[in-house]
Amino acid sequence: MTLIAIGLISFLSTFISAAMNFGEFDEFESRGRSMAMRAFGGMILMIVGVVVSNLGRMGAAGAGLIPDPQRQRQDLEPWTRSAGGMLNDALSEVDALKHRPAPTASAATVKVRCPQCKALNDEHDKFCGQCGGPIA
Ligand SMILES: [Zn+2]
Repeated sequence: MTLIAIGLISFLSTFISAAMNFGEFDEFESRGRSMAMRAFGGMILMIVGVVVSNLGRMGAAGAGLIPDPQRQRQDLEPWTRSAGGMLNDALSEVDALKHRPAPTASAATVKVRCPQCKALNDEHDKFCGQCGGPIA
């Protein structure tokens, strides 16, 4: 916990000093470039902050502040479970795609009724399959 706080403070101080450095950019860089640099720097600092907080947590476990790895796994369990659930959702979606009934040839074929016996025949049939009569 203490290390996380230290990590957070160092992250914030890095952010502040970086913001001050970016301020100097305004003097010789165009405003648009400075804005882009600031956004990019902010993104990197966010990543650094996550890494620092992870290091803080691992450092706490390594220092014996979290003596039971089982306990830590329990803390993380809702996250791993939700990740597994998302994986399951994705897999079931793929499964549904696999099992979706393929359109059959007959479903795509238009049927016409024989004018003599009213039997159904394929659209392109010239003669009725039931009575042999010509289809209009
Ligand atoms: Zn017919």
